[in-house]
Amino acid sequence: AVAIECRDLGLVFPGAAGESTLALSGVSCCFLPGKVTAIIGPSGCGKSTLLQIVRGFLDPSRGHLNFVKLEGGVAAQRQVTKRPAMSTVWQAFNLFPWLTVLENVVFGLELAGVPKAEREARARKAIAAVDLPGFEKKYPRQLSGGMRQRVGIARALVMNPDVLLLDEPFGALDAQTRLVLQEQLARLVEQSGTTAILVTHSIEEAILLADTILVMSARPGRIVATIDVELPRP
Ligand code: ADP
Ligand code: ADP
Repeated sequence: AVAIECRDLGLVFPGAAGESTLALSGVSCCFLPGKVTAIIGPSGCGKSTLLQIVRGFLDPSRGHLNFVKLEGGVAAQRQVTKRPAMSTVWQAFNLFPWLTVLENVVFGLELAGVPKAEREARARKAIAAVDLPGFEKKYPRQLSGGMRQRVGIARALVMNPDVLLLDEPFGALDAQTRLVLQEQLARLVEQSGTTAILVTHSIEEAILLADTILVMSARPGRIVATIDVELPRP
């Protein structure tokens, strides 16, 4: 289990003719294992930028990130560690159309050099965790949007990531499908102790899924409120 501490993050995008953008300023926050932390706010407030800094695709102009390994619960030993394993679920499903469901889920394991004997068993388990058993041999075009996103989630979970980044994962789905997947995801995160970060435009989604909501605003991108959500979970 890995917690992420963001301390006073700032990021400037240099622009043409000296017109730089202060995309983030003074962002301090904390992402905890087994919890979903949602980041909400209007377009341009820095949600993607913050996510990309956490992912390691962007370097902050100031401040820093700490990854803190929590052994045996939050109160136990703290140990600053290297960048943990991270997986992302995207809004556009980004599945390979020429691969079956099983092959799509196996793909990342193959890249990571997981032995062949282990790959299929792990992939089948992840597919079962998102309620898609029986669909292993189907191709993405044979699935509904909701099913494709289940594959997207299975593909992320199969890697056993310490950190799960969710970038508008349910934006393209109908309301009913969204609700089912949201509840499933909340349960998977809690059970696995994954540190989940959810970027969303939807306050409804944030309230339903998140334990903590970071509200951001733009010019410059910063956190203007932190909300602890205490919904009884079914
Ligand atoms: P959303 O609001 O849905 O998160 P955006 O339209 O803000 O999406 O951004 C989409 C992508 O384009 C992001 O990865 C962001 O880094 C990049 N981006 C946003 N604004 C600019 C810009 N002014 N110049 C270059 N890239 C940008
Ligand atoms: P959000 O995801 O909340 O929509 P972003 O993180 O994409 O916001 O963008 C935050 C600010 O940084 C915006 O003003 C955006 O235009 C700017 N921005 C994002 N990416 C780039 C980029 N690659 N180059 C220049 N400006 C960018």
